[in-house]
Amino acid sequence: RKMRVGLVYGGKSGEHEVSLSTAFAVMNAFDFDKYEIIPFFITQAGEWRVGSLMNAPFADKEQLKLLDSKGGTVQAMDMLFRSLDRSASTASEPAIDVMFPLIHGTNGEDGTIQGLFEMANVPYVGAGVLASAVGMDKAFMKLVFADAGLPQVQYVHFIGAEWNRDQEQILRQTEEELGYPCFIKPANLGSSVGISKARNRAELIAAIELALQYDRKVIIEEFVDAREVEVSVLGNDEPQASVTGEIISSNEFYDYKAKYIDGKSGMQIPAEIDTELAASIREMAVRAYRAIDGSGLSRVDFFVRRSDNQVFINEVNTMPGFTPYSMYPLMWKETGKPYQELLDDLIELALNRFAAKQ
Ligand code: ATP
Ligand code: MG
Ligand code: MG
Ligand code: MG
Repeated sequence: RKMRVGLVYGGKSGEHEVSLSTAFAVMNAFDFDKYEIIPFFITQAGEWRVGSLMNAPFADKEQLKLLDSKGGTVQAMDMLFRSLDRSASTASEPAIDVMFPLIHGTNGEDGTIQGLFEMANVPYVGAGVLASAVGMDKAFMKLVFADAGLPQVQYVHFIGAEWNRDQEQILRQTEEELGYPCFIKPANLGSSVGISKARNRAELIAAIELALQYDRKVIIEEFVDAREVEVSVLGNDEPQASVTGEIISSNEFYDYKAKYIDGKSGMQIPAEIDTELAASIREMAVRAYRAIDGSGLSRVDFFVRRSDNQVFINEVNTMPGFTPYSMYPLMWKETGKPYQELLDDLIELALNRFAAKQ
């Protein structure tokens, strides 16, 4: 019989809309001769909606929201946890073979939904609980990278309570250690949501207040005038790196608008950098992947300083943008692995990881 894939998308996150686009693209690319899909939509409020078994993709993106769906959170959990007792499944209420979370950011890329799948004893695509959580929290990610000897920019981090107590001290430390301009980020987010570049103290304060609206933890980084080079990594115990790719941002930095709205940002794949530099970046990407104990996939992002080609790791994304026009799949395509094959590989990696721990 066909493989039953639970596709999960939407989510209680700043990247909800991005996730819908990704899910729509993935659905359209699935080989329905091999797979059947059970759609799981998570609303902005965090409620689940489950649709019926599908043998063809939705005709349009709005249908992904399963507006007429009868199944809510309880039904979704019932279906998910049915995998604990596969004998209880019937033809109309099948157990799921593998879950495919296509949710970026909070509750999707941070280990929480991965924990749910672990509890339900169902295989799932992508990084596990620990790698997801470490890959989502930019402060912890940096600790792990430092331990792996990966070069990174200077940074400071603090939580809202510390900011409220020691504002002056945090500002002084930031100015002394990082200077201006600097980059202010919510520690746990993505798609550049809540990120600002500050050129002076007034901008810095405003940027911190903004970041604190998205997360209780904020990280501030030294600015680096750099080219942005990324690598796709795929695998479980033997992760492989793709060719490199460069982001050519349409804005001052690669912000939300440059990523998704104006459609003007470019990608250069492979990146036009020399072979040795590319090899060293790809090696670092695999090292970063192993450092967070990655599995499935991750996109690893780097800065290459313009003045001297010095490389700094920026971050890993355990659930990177995944439409056929996103960096992650495009870098694999250039490496010789087309989109459909990538989907097949991800599902196989999920099943292998599950089998390995049984
Ligand atoms: P993603 O969508 O890749 O998950 P994110 O929200 O995790 O993004 P970052 O990748 O950390 O955010 O930063 C977003 C962008 O901001 C970068 O691609 C880069 O253009 C710019 N940027 C971030 N940090 C720095 C820095 N320290 N110096 C210079 N530019 C930076
Ligand atoms: Mg990120
Ligand atoms: Mg991200
Ligand atoms: Mg990034």
